Amino acid sequence: MSATTYDYIIVGGGSAGCVLAHRLSEDPSAKVLLIEAGGADRHPLFHMPAGFAKMTKGIGSWGWSTIPQKHLQDRVLRFTQAKVIGGGSSINAQIYTRGVPADYDEWEQHEGAIGWSYQAVLPYFRRAENNERYSNRYHAYGGPLGVSNPVSPLPICEAFFQAGQELGIPFNPDFNGERAEGLGYYQLTQLNARRSSTSVAYLHPIRDRQNLTVALETQALRLVVKGGRAVGVETLTRGGNTPQTMRAEREVIVASGAIGSPKLLLQSGIGPADHLRSIGIDPLLDLPGVGSNLQDHLDLFVIAECTGHHTYDKYNHPHHAAWAGVQYLLFRKGPVASSLFETGGFWYADRSARSPDIQFHLGLGSGIEAGVAKMRYAGVTLNSAYLRPRSRGTVRLQSADPTAAPLIDPNYWADGEDRRLALAGLRLAREIMRQPALKRFVMQEVLPGPGRVSDQDLFDYACASAKTDHHPVGTCKIGASSDRMTVVTPDLRVVGLDGLRVADASVMPRLPSSNTNAPTIMVAEKAADHVLSRI
Ligand SMILES: Cc1cc2nc3c(=O)[nH]c(=O)nc-3n(C[C@H](O)[C@H](O)[C@H](O)COP(=O)(O)OP(=O)(O)OC[C@H]3O[C@@H](n4cnc5c(N)ncnc54)[C@H](O)[C@@H]3O)c2cc1C
Repeated sequence: MSATTYDYIIVGGGSAGCVLAHRLSEDPSAKVLLIEAGGADRHPLFHMPAGFAKMTKGIGSWGWSTIPQKHLQDRVLRFTQAKVIGGGSSINAQIYTRGVPADYDEWEQHEGAIGWSYQAVLPYFRRAENNERYSNRYHAYGGPLGVSNPVSPLPICEAFFQAGQELGIPFNPDFNGERAEGLGYYQLTQLNARRSSTSVAYLHPIRDRQNLTVALETQALRLVVKGGRAVGVETLTRGGNTPQTMRAEREVIVASGAIGSPKLLLQSGIGPADHLRSIGIDPLLDLPGVGSNLQDHLDLFVIAECTGHHTYDKYNHPHHAAWAGVQYLLFRKGPVASSLFETGGFWYADRSARSPDIQFHLGLGSGIEAGVAKMRYAGVTLNSAYLRPRSRGTVRLQSADPTAAPLIDPNYWADGEDRRLALAGLRLAREIMRQPALKRFVMQEVLPGPGRVSDQDLFDYACASAKTDHHPVGTCKIGASSDRMTVVTPDLRVVGLDGLRVADASVMPRLPSSNTNAPTIMVAEKAADHVLSRI
């Protein structure tokens, strides 16, 4: 076997790719290559929980944006996607949520994803988990992924829970257990007040495995297909001029994310033939589902001004920041140990919905995320997102050049119901912030602002300020063979080609009613069992 031939090549070292690299290299006789376009996660910001605040501003990301959003008054939204080992799990807000059983049961019953019911996927959530608090039907400890409780909550968090109760929304100690309803503390992908990315959890412990090669700063340009079989990957390493071909004896597994995976397939001539021809790529396989069915959660938010320094805003000042740094280094506590979005929950915009359809994230400051203006005094943010959008968008290429940014069109609010329910969620967030229990902490609403009351006012506000919740899925969906939009079979093989699978957020046929990191890790854990013929 030559130096550039492997048994398995995994393209993309993100949330899913690192899990696959770990599981597939457990057999010392299997030679595994993990290719990641981004670099190492050495910078301390990747490991401090509060480093997240810097992440949406471009560190370790591709720097992509959407195309103008037709139903949001043509706004272009920043669309952060990770470009670093660990992928999204190295830059995300570390919120650990899974969605509800009905999400996965619908994958199986309505989308043809046979074998992906809640009963079938629950063991993979548990296999991944090293939960510091729970050990029960839903949770386990001893797995690679640290799942912990927030270490430095603030009193305003408790008042937020009380505000929910004043509105009839109960406290919930575990969103991933018996029920999702309620407000409470999120569990976080952290261990000992450090981020537990899949790079840290799954790759660091196996650094010494001789049969695993991790190629950083190496971008896959296209897949090499011969006689209907994927046999390798053409790559370019940063600073190099000449592409190299890496060969796979057994399989190529694409794990480049919900934008990166369809992009790579399209670059390789796998996708809707008419689109490929229009940009000068010879279609190899006409697969219309590639890059279609894009879904994402769109976030709206209320920002209020506090009555004092009740959140972490003051740590934007250098002397407070220095103290926070010392506190973290000495005690692993304080603002730096906080991912800033540690409380939230799930409730209903539509009371007849089968499970909560709105998710809240309480941000312990204002201006935490890119694009949100800072206020003069301490602020607090309550984000709300409608969880089961019906709008579907696309990922397409602007040219045949593999280094060009993709055309990302989430097509937010193409379906009017998405808009109606999202605005109902925003009104609910506003109501929570106005409850008596929060009066000790919250002085006044700043955004949308008390003067914005009508549907049109809120729609205009949303068009100007809505942002992605960073949860794209669906662009290489699992499905039935009878569905022409299916990209991968339930065992994640690309329809119409041998030796090729996709395993990451892109295969989810529908968005779970939650954040998407834990579901992606579950997908990768299960994918490994498919590849190894264990199921
Ligand atoms: C800013 C942000 C905040 C988030 N917050 C949360 C949260 O708090 N909780 C939660 O559950 N979810 C959160 N998410 C979502 C979650 O992190 C993602 O759903 C998850 O990481 C997706 O995993 P993935 O493996 O599909 O893709 P990624 O993790 O994006 O991995 C894909 C990897 O492939 C690499 N790649 C792409 N193309 C190529 C190529 N051609 N060649 C080589 N490498 C390539 C990329 O560089 C990347 O590292 C957040 C995401 C972001 C971006």
